[in-house]
Amino acid sequence: MTALTNLLDLDPAQLVAYCAELGEKPFRAKQLQRWIHQFGASDFDAMTDLAKSLRDKLKTRATIAAPAAISDHTSADGTRKWLLDVGQGNAVETVFIPEENRGTLCVSTQAGCAVNCRFCSTGKQGFSRNLTVGEIIGQLWMAEFELRKSKGIEPGPKGERQITNVVMMGMGEPLLNFEPTVTALKLMLDDNAYGLSRRRVTVSTSGVVPMIDKLSQECPVALAVSLHASNDALRDGLVPLNKKYPLAELMAACRRYLDYAPRDFITFEYCMLDGVNDSDAHARELVSLVQNGAESVPCKFNLIPFNPFPESGLRRSNNARIKAFAQILMDAGVVTTIRKTRGDDIDAACGQLAGEVQDRTKVQERMQKMAEYQKKFGKDFGRIIEVPR
Ligand code: SAH
Ligand code: SF4
Repeated sequence: MTALTNLLDLDPAQLVAYCAELGEKPFRAKQLQRWIHQFGASDFDAMTDLAKSLRDKLKTRATIAAPAAISDHTSADGTRKWLLDVGQGNAVETVFIPEENRGTLCVSTQAGCAVNCRFCSTGKQGFSRNLTVGEIIGQLWMAEFELRKSKGIEPGPKGERQITNVVMMGMGEPLLNFEPTVTALKLMLDDNAYGLSRRRVTVSTSGVVPMIDKLSQECPVALAVSLHASNDALRDGLVPLNKKYPLAELMAACRRYLDYAPRDFITFEYCMLDGVNDSDAHARELVSLVQNGAESVPCKFNLIPFNPFPESGLRRSNNARIKAFAQILMDAGVVTTIRKTRGDDIDAACGQLAGEVQDRTKVQERMQKMAEYQKKFGKDFGRIIEVPR
């Protein structure tokens, strides 16, 4: 018996091709796509406007399946976090953050992460594997329709949309899982699927320069860059990928991206680490980095209070320090926000996206994958380097 095709893995064009293989016209693919992504259907029998013969064919060859939820917690502030089983002892997280006029879903793109940033617990777990398209878009599919179900909102375009924004800020480095990430992005934007505007979908990257350029050509959406440092020596220690793509190259890539981006600024994320990257001098150095004559980068800063985890050996900057830091940026004309920490009580805050059920016996396999990445991106890839003060 051949394996069932998971229709969540297919982008709009692939679904048309799949339907053609079954002898069906392209408009059937559109209908099918709407059933899947607008009505959250997983049962072919529910797709009443498809011919019974087609439904029967689909039942024997295809499936619509997102990763299964291992846990589902809602925090006191309304943040809801699902831990999803992606097989072989790996789990990833999806977090829904409700706000007054919008609902944001934070999705994962990899199980673990090979970049190994000094302050990130995902990085500390090492890299397990890339998520498939179905596993990435499946997070949005599952979350949108679960949220509607909990609130008694009907599926379909008439029901009130729960997720209005998506940020790829969960586990993993999206630009190191490029093709599946882009396919999932295209589904998010497609009018016969989720129909989100490019401005409401954000890719967050630690700075994989060539892939930033590739994204600008293949699917320009809003871009957030995890900066975390104002100079190369400091950033080398916090984000090891900086050794491969240092700040000057990263800033140039950001400028190039803006020619294609749906927004006219880059969001810089900056994790506030007590005594490491949070002094007035660091703030001033950041201003010079982004306001540098012809090399300036139109940007907004998002300061993220560090979410501590036991092995990190790092501390969160205190609130007064974060405010003073923000003030220096703002006085220089840089729009700056301080991220509210949400979902603390359910470990859904940034960088705490943990694989609680991760199988430790997979370590060997992860080390091997890490070695492959080091071959590709240089020997320091994924290594912890002393943080210069
Ligand atoms: N790999 C991508 C996206 C996932 S991480 C990236 O690095 O951009 C999403 C954001 O959470 C990044 O800005 C990351 O630096 C930040 N982050 C990671 N660990 C954190 C922690 N412990 N406290 C606060 N922010 C953290
Ligand atoms: Fe990976 Fe992002 Fe964590 Fe760095 S911050 S280790 S790139 S998930």
